[in-house]
Amino acid sequence: MDKSKYNDRLEDYSLDKLYNVAKRNFNKSIVLRDLYRNERGELIAQCISCGRKTIINSSYDLKKFVAGHYFRTFGFTSVEFDRDNVNIQCSQYCNVNMSGNLSLYQKSLVVKIGQERFDVLKAKAQQTHKLTYRELINIIIESREIIARRKKELHIKF
Ligand SMILES: [Zn+2]
Repeated sequence: MDKSKYNDRLEDYSLDKLYNVAKRNFNKSIVLRDLYRNERGELIAQCISCGRKTIINSSYDLKKFVAGHYFRTFGFTSVEFDRDNVNIQCSQYCNVNMSGNLSLYQKSLVVKIGQERFDVLKAKAQQTHKLTYRELINIIIESREIIARRKKELHIKF
């Protein structure tokens, strides 16, 4: 991958466009990070909140999952792109109907990242932070790398 070329293109974007591209790439990188293959080799998505597991066979199956924020983006700008704050979640039931299903989310998140990292995240969420142009570009580059790596590791063809 020619990184300098990538950068040049991104640097032509407006801040709004960059933010939207960052959001899309970041969210995809979270979903792919959290997918795994079980002992039978099936691709599995497990919701951070309700814990339900779904076999993923297509991009259509994957659309039933989103990158769900523990501290939801409104009012928590400092952790909008924090990888501890965002985890795979079922789209309809937990993310929309249950508004994140946060009490179950918290339990699983503490198990996943540990109490110490959860406390750090909580403290960070109280701060305000305005994302810079450079930070958004870095989020995009980092997320694209994760997406490519996970697709390869998980042998995802769609
Ligand atoms: Zn769920």
